[in-house]
Amino acid sequence: MNKGLICPRCKNFLRAGKNKYDCLSCNVSYPTIDDICCFVERDSKGSGFKAEMFEFLFEVEKKHFWHTGRKEIIYQMLN
Ligand SMILES: [Zn+2]
Repeated sequence: MNKGLICPRCKNFLRAGKNKYDCLSCNVSYPTIDDICCFVERDSKGSGFKAEMFEFLFEVEKKHFWHTGRKEIIYQMLN
């Protein structure tokens, strides 16, 4: 039975609030975006993306099966 969302840090159930979910155990609030709870931690600039990861992603996208397959499907659809 689903009792609700669970805190990724302490695994206790979260309490739903207005535009957020609160963990009463570790005193953390998780905001909601379009009614979806956001567990992604924001960096200091608030972007949600860590700039140092872009170079890693660029290299992975060259050879990972998901990205190469996706590109192949897009190429086929364009032709
Ligand atoms: Zn917690």
